[in-house]
Amino acid sequence: MVFRSNMSLALEQAREAAARGEVPVGAVVVAADGTVVSMAGNRTRELNDPTAHAELLAIRDACALLGVERLTDHDLYVTLEPCPMCAGAIVNARIRRLYYGAQDSKSGGVAHGARVFSHPQCHHVPEVYDGVSASEAEQLLVDFFAAKRGTGS
Ligand SMILES: [Zn+2]
Repeated sequence: MVFRSNMSLALEQAREAAARGEVPVGAVVVAADGTVVSMAGNRTRELNDPTAHAELLAIRDACALLGVERLTDHDLYVTLEPCPMCAGAIVNARIRRLYYGAQDSKSGGVAHGARVFSHPQCHHVPEVYDGVSASEAEQLLVDFFAAKRGTGS
């Protein structure tokens, strides 16, 4: 089942991010024919870059790889509800479908906060499917922040 395996790949990226000490979020860009174009996990700490969210890295990689500025007919799988910055990038990239896992009531920008896709200014609205493997994605985040508190860092 393509649907589930793409989110599994995103979860794998999230686990790898956690292993690097990054907030465990992973993203995968998939072409219309099901080909996985790019995968990424958060690298804000490693790159000293507050914009190095999984979604942005995956979108940048996919565009660079394909030599295009838009990912029309491509889908994005991400383990956590995108923040407003990433939701904006999803709009600009013309992502066809967005599949995401856990809800982010604190920093999310799709179902919470800025609700970027619902804003009248939004010029491209992807199809949105939430709650995909949500419990797994959420557990990764819970474990990561619990471990962080445990070490006092
Ligand atoms: Zn983001």
